[in-house]
Amino acid sequence: MKVIVVGAGIVGTCSASYLLRDGHDVVLMDSQGPGEGCSKGNAGALSPGSCIPLSGPGMLSKIPKWLIDPLGPLRIRPGYLASALPWLMRFVLAGRAGNIAGLADALLALHSNTFENYEPLVGSANCRDLIRRTGTLTVYKTDRSLAGSQREWRLRAERQIHQRVLNSGELHELVPELSTDYKHGVLLADHGFVTNPYRLVRSLAEQFARDGGHLERRRATGIIVRDGRVSGVHTADGEWIADRIVIAAGAWSTRLISALGVRVPLESQRGYHATIQGSGITPALPVVSAEAKVYATPMEEGLRFAGTVEFGGLDAPPDFRRAEALIALAKDMFPTIARGEVSQWMGHRPTLPDSLPVIGAAPDHPHLLFAFGHGHHGMTGASTTGTIIASLVSGRQPPINLAPYRPHRF
Ligand SMILES: Cc1cc2nc3c(=O)[nH]c(=O)nc-3n(C[C@H](O)[C@H](O)[C@H](O)COP(=O)(O)OP(=O)(O)OC[C@H]3O[C@@H](n4cnc5c(N)ncnc54)[C@H](O)[C@@H]3O)c2cc1C
Repeated sequence: MKVIVVGAGIVGTCSASYLLRDGHDVVLMDSQGPGEGCSKGNAGALSPGSCIPLSGPGMLSKIPKWLIDPLGPLRIRPGYLASALPWLMRFVLAGRAGNIAGLADALLALHSNTFENYEPLVGSANCRDLIRRTGTLTVYKTDRSLAGSQREWRLRAERQIHQRVLNSGELHELVPELSTDYKHGVLLADHGFVTNPYRLVRSLAEQFARDGGHLERRRATGIIVRDGRVSGVHTADGEWIADRIVIAAGAWSTRLISALGVRVPLESQRGYHATIQGSGITPALPVVSAEAKVYATPMEEGLRFAGTVEFGGLDAPPDFRRAEALIALAKDMFPTIARGEVSQWMGHRPTLPDSLPVIGAAPDHPHLLFAFGHGHHGMTGASTTGTIIASLVSGRQPPINLAPYRPHRF
């Protein structure tokens, strides 16, 4: 079958790679080239036990605070509030107590086999070195903040996620450079990370091309529908015809499908990084500040501080004061850190209100498949999404129950 995958981020690249392995004739199309979107500069954590929806009970009362502090962990640009409001209301509703267990189960189903499903891809692309199974460590300054996250740790424990609480001594033995202000830690020993997310996407895309896939640097401008049937994509250079189209264009995906009348409430949660080369600090595993909700990941290019959420849409320029604030946090976490050379970056997390992506056929268009909205965990969820998309196109039973991710749930 001829298949076009639009978007060569980690989700589109894994999907295209698995489709090619099934023997399809696959085009992987990206306007900027592989890995230039959100998959480029993220924190790289691979979290098989990640099962906490972003929204939870009591969200509504937090929104006013998000408007006030321009450098807080979660920020809504005041000029963007009206645009974001409908999405925020859905987000608040998704966090009702009765929804949480079902969402947690669905997140876990998508994430738990992340390593296993990357293995064949990184094996053939000869880049196994990019994936490390080191565990990740969440650190807390106060008893209060540890106690405040009990709901999350309980959700994990109920799902048999292996987690170990560390006292201050154990914490500093594991990460000696960490500030002694941090009093508690929780180790997720089964987690890990990608040492260079950008190189991972590019390596997989290059292997896809070596294996006979078609890598095209082109912008899809619309979906072709003939006689009621989706049959290709429009580009500036003409029409590209195929039997199946997979939309994996991250935070830009709904721009492509809205003309079909398909409504999916996709929002960009903009995140930032500051990567410090020559920091003099190389923790053995990613360290997460629970209070700031920021990862410190030992990447190939240096120690990367990545996280924070900003609602500001796809078109507003980055506010790099938020990346600067990550440098201040770096100093707070690791007092002996050297400033080194710093790179800054902003990326658009493609996020849906219930924290789950859409994976499956579009409403009324069985030949158009969606694979977007992986939010804060797209590096983790991409490898399994690739296996799901290949099974849907090839007519196999998908590896997990797809009901929670159905595109027409909104
Ligand atoms: C600060 C930060 C930290 C993060 N940390 C983690 C983490 O630790 N672990 C984790 O699992 N996830 C993390 N994430 C989330 C993760 O990065 C995303 O979920 C993931 O990269 C999304 O991948 P994607 O392929 O869906 O989108 P993208 O990588 O954005 O790819 C979409 C692609 O589509 C292309 N495109 C768009 N429109 C078109 C068009 N019309 N025609 C052709 N091409 C088009 C773009 O050029 C782009 O390359 C983080 C995100 C951020 C911002």
